[in-house]
Amino acid sequence: KVKPQIREGANDTQRRWTPRNYPRQVPDAGAEAEAALFFSGNALLPGADPAAHCYCGHQFGQFAGQLGDGAAMYLGEVCTEAGERWELQLKGAGPTAFSRQADGRKVLRSSIREFLCSEAMFHLGVPTTRAGACVTSESTVVRDVFYDGNPKYEKCTVVLRIAPTFIRFGSFEIFKPADEHTGRAGPSVERNDIRVQLLDYVISSFYPEIQAAHACDSDHVPRNAAFFREVTRRTARMVAEWQCVGFCHGVLNTDNMSIVGLTIDYGPFGFLDRYDPDHVCNASDSAGRYTYSKQPEVCKWNLQKLAEALEPELPLAVGEAIVAEEFDAEFQKHYLHKMRRKLGLVRSEQEEDSTLIAKLLETMHLTGADFTNTFCLLSSFPAEPEAPGLAEFLSALASQCASLEELRLAFRPQMDPRQLSMMLMLAQSNPQLFALIGTQANVTKELERVEQQSRLQRLTPEELQSRNSAHWATWLQAYRARLDKDREDAGDTAAWQAERLHVMHTSNPKYVLRNYIAQNAIEAAENGDFSEVRQVLKLLESPYRQEGEHAAGPEGAATVASRRPSYSSKPPLWAAELCVT
Ligand code: AMP
Ligand code: MG
Ligand code: MG
Repeated sequence: KVKPQIREGANDTQRRWTPRNYPRQVPDAGAEAEAALFFSGNALLPGADPAAHCYCGHQFGQFAGQLGDGAAMYLGEVCTEAGERWELQLKGAGPTAFSRQADGRKVLRSSIREFLCSEAMFHLGVPTTRAGACVTSESTVVRDVFYDGNPKYEKCTVVLRIAPTFIRFGSFEIFKPADEHTGRAGPSVERNDIRVQLLDYVISSFYPEIQAAHACDSDHVPRNAAFFREVTRRTARMVAEWQCVGFCHGVLNTDNMSIVGLTIDYGPFGFLDRYDPDHVCNASDSAGRYTYSKQPEVCKWNLQKLAEALEPELPLAVGEAIVAEEFDAEFQKHYLHKMRRKLGLVRSEQEEDSTLIAKLLETMHLTGADFTNTFCLLSSFPAEPEAPGLAEFLSALASQCASLEELRLAFRPQMDPRQLSMMLMLAQSNPQLFALIGTQANVTKELERVEQQSRLQRLTPEELQSRNSAHWATWLQAYRARLDKDREDAGDTAAWQAERLHVMHTSNPKYVLRNYIAQNAIEAAENGDFSEVRQVLKLLESPYRQEGEHAAGPEGAATVASRRPSYSSKPPLWAAELCVT
């Protein structure tokens, strides 16, 4: 947070801000102020040519017409000596040509989340756009109003986003005619001309191998099909990576799907803490369209929408056949490959591996186990029955399962009991009206919560623990049997063990950007202290256990007393069920 000022006497060359001038470490105050000037949008980088990108999209299943980009501004592209080409964008720098009624601003809290998560995902090895800077200011906007009716002022903040391109599926949807359900249309554009140009541009710039392979074709359909096949495969691999690291995107609309297969637009995302396939990280997603377990299916649906948008450059039947041929197969292949590595199955592939993985997730679900920490712990499971350390392993595992207190919080009823009984009366007396108001899913969920809650009230901590132990004993027995097979295939036990541990340590992160970690950093930053953001960034840049690091696994739940727990703990109670908008 600095007041930007051009350094006195700086000439044009000195003002040219390149990453080589200021390497990764914290720059001095003068350099930081100068950088803030450019990366807030108050001054233009030499050669920058700002523009806003026009796109449409399907939001929550419906074509929503023109959406943006109302908050991000394209500055231009930087070509590096290595031949890379990076598009720079400022997100939150003010209104653009497509801001509609909104202000084009972003606030500190959402910007810190985007900044930290882009980098966290990159270092986890997940395809993603990057973030280069985050500049905040004393200017404020109101996003929320407190319960007492007073507005909440938040600091305007700008994130510098970096990627080969920010073109999305929705960029191709500007050519879609008005939607039959919503009546919404995209902008009136010369459809065919621009679509052909955009497609040529995307393929030749970002898929040069495909362009080259089809350079002599007189018909563009084979080239366009090869391009769409590659987008389908990349998207399938990206979402497989998300599932393996427990990442929930939160707003998987077609305008948030990158044409080059990167994770794009970090808003109300979340990483799984307690494993729950139905976890919804976005508080606005009341229907649960974008739950964790639905992400692959939703990405496939989005590809279908892209196929529809590419017609007639790619005949729809060809596009649909490609999704059907490629998506599930590529997703499964990549998912299984990654999951085997997470389990340390390094030597052989067995038919029953997908059952073993599904059973592991089911066991995590039944025992409310922490997703990240359970995987992290598996590397200390003694692969040989006579090896020491089993008792420690089991007790560490038990501490990663949800306590009664956590479960009671997770399944607390969310409706007023009177409201619920009125709903149930309505359901009985007037089922048609009940169906019309569309709350069945909510009522069903609420009834499940009420039932679960009364079961939890009757349960003692000892009973919970013995139930959890029984679930885990069953799965661990199957896991050990599978490890035995892997070891037999390997022959050399010592080499197998070393390889297995190495693969597990580099496949199961110790640190992910949990909501409570982001929340602590945001609160400190809102009070003017940015050290926590820097520290969290540093941590997330090395998310895996360091070579030679003490073998101790992750820690249990952080206590309420320490709001700043160790970053590898599962969330403290106050943050156990945090949901963002
Ligand atoms: P999202 O759900 O984050 O993908 O947002 C959907 C669209 O809303 C974006 O593509 C932006 O164009 C637009 N939008 C979001 N926030 C703002 C804002 N503060 N001002 C103007 N437009 C915005
Ligand atoms: Mg978006
Ligand atoms: Mg967004």
